[in-house]
Amino acid sequence: MSRIEIDNLTKRYRTGSGDDILAVEDLSLDLADGEFLVLVGPSGCGKSTTLRCIAGLEPVSGGEIRFGDADVTDRTPEERNVAMVFQNYALYPHMTARGNMAFGLRMTTDLSKEERNERVESAARMLGIEDLLDDKPKELSGGQQQRVALGRAIVRKPEVFLMDEPLSNLDAKLRTTMRTEIQRLQSDLGVTTVYVTHDQTEAMTMGDRIAVLDGGELQQVGTPLECYYEPANLFVANFIGEPSMNFFETEVAGDALVGDAIRYELSGDHLDAVAESERVTLGVRPEDVEIAETRRDAFAGTVRVVEPMGDQNFLHLDVGGVDVTAAVAGEYEVREGANVMVRFPEAKIHLFDADSGEVLANCRRHSAQLPTATGTGGEAA
Ligand code: ADP
Repeated sequence: MSRIEIDNLTKRYRTGSGDDILAVEDLSLDLADGEFLVLVGPSGCGKSTTLRCIAGLEPVSGGEIRFGDADVTDRTPEERNVAMVFQNYALYPHMTARGNMAFGLRMTTDLSKEERNERVESAARMLGIEDLLDDKPKELSGGQQQRVALGRAIVRKPEVFLMDEPLSNLDAKLRTTMRTEIQRLQSDLGVTTVYVTHDQTEAMTMGDRIAVLDGGELQQVGTPLECYYEPANLFVANFIGEPSMNFFETEVAGDALVGDAIRYELSGDHLDAVAESERVTLGVRPEDVEIAETRRDAFAGTVRVVEPMGDQNFLHLDVGGVDVTAAVAGEYEVREGANVMVRFPEAKIHLFDADSGEVLANCRRHSAQLPTATGTGGEAA
């Protein structure tokens, strides 16, 4: 168990034709002991490369990696005491689940057979696979195989867990269950973990913090809610959140933002925020788009598609030629083709400098507490 510090990590690959690919550029991250950090970003952004550098599977081109006080940058994977879990479980088909989980221990430790068995059985209990230990991989479902792969990592009692899209091969329902299970395991074991995914839902739901990468560069690192409510730039605003934030391209004209689709009057702090910018992108999340009853401060839209989710309907609207998604309560009956007025409350908008992509202002974020039941409870019945 240890803190992980990554300082200015850079990784270049040389291709067969002699070209240099800059896969990771000047990446610095600091993980607290026991932290669960999710590295997220689109395909090709450098997530796996970063993980492989932390594991010692790739030599770095520049920078330093430390576990606790130890500089591990030049250590082999074996010397780093990390355990990896991959998308393809990579189990040995001819070995039982027990054999697969114990294999690494047999090869790399001098634990006795009894000690190995004890570790395997304790991990199997944690994962609920005690009854499957004598089965071979082909007798196990995908979810069970992934549990064995997790067990194989757990028995090693590593200093660091590195997970590369471990849930991608599972069906949607199982993925949701395993998400919670991995979080519980990680928190019970307290092992510092770096988890790679391209799936923003996994990132939002699993990590203590998220590190968002694009083009090999770190865009933002923060708690899931910070990345959601206070994105550092347009990339993060667009990447985090499902459905995505809506965007309008505008120019600053006096006290207003003027675009092809909207003219939006700004006030107070927002005017100061855009003072140095010429072109501004206005962003608003689907749940913050209000369906307006009056025309005041509202824009005309046409419902193109209604996507019912049960508790919510996602309305895909055309607002002056811009696609806008609005999330409204599921009980509303909305016809495709209907004309509606939409409003973007000023407290809820995000503003970005369109040229640099950097955020100028984020929405106001209210935090609320869940009510907690008090009293004896008996008299309420
Ligand atoms: P991600 O995990 O985010 O999908 P990767 O870390 O696998 O991204 O890749 C980052 C970039 O490095 C990509 O452009 C990819 O093509 C390139 N890359 C990855 N591995 C190699 C390699 N072994 N040789 C050359 N280029 C590579």
